[in-house]
Amino acid sequence: MSKTIAAIASGNAPGGIGVIRISGENAIEIASSLFSPADGSSIRDLKGYRAKYGNIIINGNKADNAVALVFRAPKSYTGEDVCELSVHGGMLALQNTLQAVFEAGAVPAGAGEFTKRAFLNGKIDLTQAESVAKIVSAQGQAELKASFNALQGVLSNEINSVLEKLLDVSALMAAWVDYPDEEIPELSESELSQTLDFAAEKLKKLLDNYDNGQTVTCGVETVIAGRPNAGKSSLMNMLSKTEKSIVTHIEGTTRDIVEDSVRLGDIVLHLKDTAGLRESDDIVESIGIEKAYRAIDSAGLILAVFDLSQKLSKEDFDLIEKCSGKNAVAVINKNDLQPEMDTAVIENAFDSVVYISAKNNEGLDELASAVSNILGVADFDTNAPLLANLRQKQNCQNAYENILQAKEALEMNITFDAINVMVDSAAEELLSLTGKKATEEVVNNIFSKFCVGK
Ligand code: GDP
Repeated sequence: MSKTIAAIASGNAPGGIGVIRISGENAIEIASSLFSPADGSSIRDLKGYRAKYGNIIINGNKADNAVALVFRAPKSYTGEDVCELSVHGGMLALQNTLQAVFEAGAVPAGAGEFTKRAFLNGKIDLTQAESVAKIVSAQGQAELKASFNALQGVLSNEINSVLEKLLDVSALMAAWVDYPDEEIPELSESELSQTLDFAAEKLKKLLDNYDNGQTVTCGVETVIAGRPNAGKSSLMNMLSKTEKSIVTHIEGTTRDIVEDSVRLGDIVLHLKDTAGLRESDDIVESIGIEKAYRAIDSAGLILAVFDLSQKLSKEDFDLIEKCSGKNAVAVINKNDLQPEMDTAVIENAFDSVVYISAKNNEGLDELASAVSNILGVADFDTNAPLLANLRQKQNCQNAYENILQAKEALEMNITFDAINVMVDSAAEELLSLTGKKATEEVVNNIFSKFCVGK
């Protein structure tokens, strides 16, 4: 029998209401030992999906008002008996009640243990479990939407549609090889070929979508670069709407790299505001400039800032060169001042040019659409099935490669038993992706990254 677990499910910050979740065979018994319904009844006999208002009793005294919500196995999040106690959401109030729940026999839930039990009890598969963690931590609308779709089974359904066909042909091939004398319907080469094409096409589409999916859901490493005083810190401030970067008239004050994550349209930018790019004798500043150049090389997106009120300088031309061939948007700043810059040079060098005034907070919408266009995610469909992480991608990639090998083998007229080894390997990878055959190590690793209470 697994232990009954409990944790604060509503997070570690004070709120109007806080929820303590208890799950396991003794969940309702434990809850009823400290929760007393106001109508004098007991929640021991309460059916699932029913709630009672009452009090938390600790050491014989009323400690808090509460609502107890009862779920009966298997119709609960974890698939076990669950009781959720909603109490006042102060941390002390929550902790006092949680302590009483432990004293009544529950043990503290580990990270992600509620969701892990839901997975182990077959309520959700592994891709859905992973989506729960992402829903909780989502920073952008797209990530939230894609993760919620995954929780609804959009990815699982796609994988299972491939898996089902692979297992069908695999069973036929295995039977045909093992029992050649039996009357087993023969698998035609064209049927096998069609199945392999179907699998290859679906898996390839998932893999092709992965990078864009990551950009849309997880955000993109972004460098704000430009010569001193172009307005990098002001742009960062405009984006983050905070005063995190120091904005000043003295050149070279942003000496190192300041980091922040901001939402621009539907995309989250993980921003690096770098030291101004210019030759410098100051050692600290030189190190900052070195770092800036390295950051540009590894960034997923560069916001190259130019000052419209100044003529183009050597540093500007260096930056133009650095940006060549990369995902870069030229951000021509100080649109509110008298133009001095030869903008044709920038227009020719960059696929995407946006005019802004960081000082007046102008040009944000244009910048948002330029960024989503340059990243190729403007038309990204967040409703499509999406591989959410490297683990899922690796399984999918391995399955795809096995299918390609099987296709090649079929074209070379290699026997079904050999082809079946490849089809089986592909199926194994997909079973591991959805968690039907994932190793304990993989499962433990996934849930260790959850927060407690989820
Ligand atoms: P950085 O060195 O590239 O980070 O540049 P800053 O953001 O520190 O800006 C340098 C100076 O330009 C500051 O005095 C800002 O107030 C000013 N500045 C920034 N953006 C604009 C703008 O859009 N219009 C005007 N007129 N001034 C700006």
